[in-house]
Amino acid sequence: MNQLAIHNPADDTLITSLPADDAASVAAKAARVRAAQPAWAATPLAQRKECIEKFRAGVVRDLESLAVTMTRETGKPIKMSRNELNGLLGRIDFFLKEAQDTLATETVFSEGGMTEQIQHTPLGVVANISAWNYPWFVGCNVILPALLTGNTVLYKPSEYATMTGLEITRLVHEAGVPQDAMICLVGGGAVGAALLEQKVDGVFFTGSYATGKRIAQTVGDRFVKLQLELGGKDPTYVCEDADIQNAAESLADGAMYNTGQSCCSVERVYVHEKIYDKFVDAFVNTVKTFKSGDPMSEDTYIGAITRAPQLDVLDAQVNDAKAKGAKLLTGGARGGHGSRGNWYQPTVFSNVNHSMELMREESFGPVIGIQKVSNDTEAVQLMNDTRYGLTAGVFTPDEARAKGLLEQVNAGSVYWNCCDRVSPRLPWSGHGDSGVGLTLSTYGIQTFTRPKAWHLRKA
Ligand code: NAD
Repeated sequence: MNQLAIHNPADDTLITSLPADDAASVAAKAARVRAAQPAWAATPLAQRKECIEKFRAGVVRDLESLAVTMTRETGKPIKMSRNELNGLLGRIDFFLKEAQDTLATETVFSEGGMTEQIQHTPLGVVANISAWNYPWFVGCNVILPALLTGNTVLYKPSEYATMTGLEITRLVHEAGVPQDAMICLVGGGAVGAALLEQKVDGVFFTGSYATGKRIAQTVGDRFVKLQLELGGKDPTYVCEDADIQNAAESLADGAMYNTGQSCCSVERVYVHEKIYDKFVDAFVNTVKTFKSGDPMSEDTYIGAITRAPQLDVLDAQVNDAKAKGAKLLTGGARGGHGSRGNWYQPTVFSNVNHSMELMREESFGPVIGIQKVSNDTEAVQLMNDTRYGLTAGVFTPDEARAKGLLEQVNAGSVYWNCCDRVSPRLPWSGHGDSGVGLTLSTYGIQTFTRPKAWHLRKA
């Protein structure tokens, strides 16, 4: 049988080796999930909701050990692992609160004996191929509403967060969801590819642009619903009237939280020339307080880089920026904690421009460039000079100015005086190469359904 080795990215030690799937076992699991779907869809919504409530209780009960597992396999600082699990509870509560009304059949016309209704029926079997950076969030954004709406789920967690994926699956089953209504697949890209060979009714993917594109090509000639939640190069503009210290602290955190490995990390900062120098000083001073260290320590802020190959991406961006004249203000090299594992120093550049990879391609690490701009028009032009469009922000006390600017920016989510924020009540989506489709909000429940049109005439 295939095996998947799980290493701790903080010190490169082998944590465990897990039995992995192959093409034959993926096909067998797909058949089981397909067979289980009608019965699960026929289970009353109240009972499905009860299962998700029990799942929530399981997360609360096991929170500390789940946080430790996530920290060990991803290198995420332990406090941030707890934050993710606590943040998940609000998402579960939202899904539970909204499911009933969102799924209720709508009567949109009723006159002269003719009634028209929209019924929200499940897609059927949903494939969820997932990333490792917020494995509870990105996994459960799909798994929970998909189950609530009567779908069964084939879930392929990232090979860098598989122990967490198995924990999610364990808690779903302990909560009363039948074994075959959700099945976890263990393995890397080849297992994800084998999953795409199966007859599924929806493919919900979270990960990189490169993999998302391959997935779109693979399923392109089959008419299955496809959602791709991909990367970004998220910009923020700091206006000359902003509170400099507050903006610098907020944006440094937005850039470096989770060691910069968030899809909505702040990846580019534009600052009005009138406050540029002061802002850069405040930003660098904040970053210098961020402590790299053992991810299990309570005071660690910068953890490990989860995937070793990302270190090469960060080196390349740093070297390219230096070669093109950027000014390195702090960091700029591998390391930061111990002699083993994947570590990168929190790194800040000023004097950057869009000829540099650092300002064009996702860094997905604790590396950021701050560019000077002379007016709002230039800031908007630069914010939109990207193939991505996940989030964007503006810092200014002037609400009308912020809204006027953000209306011009191509992004799925926009932020006024805040950043790196996700709400269960709002849709999460991207423009351009940041993907298609959405999760969260009531739209993120309906997305797991097909609207069925009923034309009913009384005889
Ligand atoms: P990745 O693309 O390397 O892997 C994602 C998943 O795809 C993994 O489970 C992997 O095993 C699987 N996979 C790889 N090759 C495959 C193939 N050929 N067929 C099917 N599946 C395959 O991405 P990652 O490193 O896990 O995640 C990081 C990326 O995810 C970043 O770009 C980040 O911005 C993005 N992300 C986006 C969001 C969002 O909501 N937009 C959220 C989190 C992460």
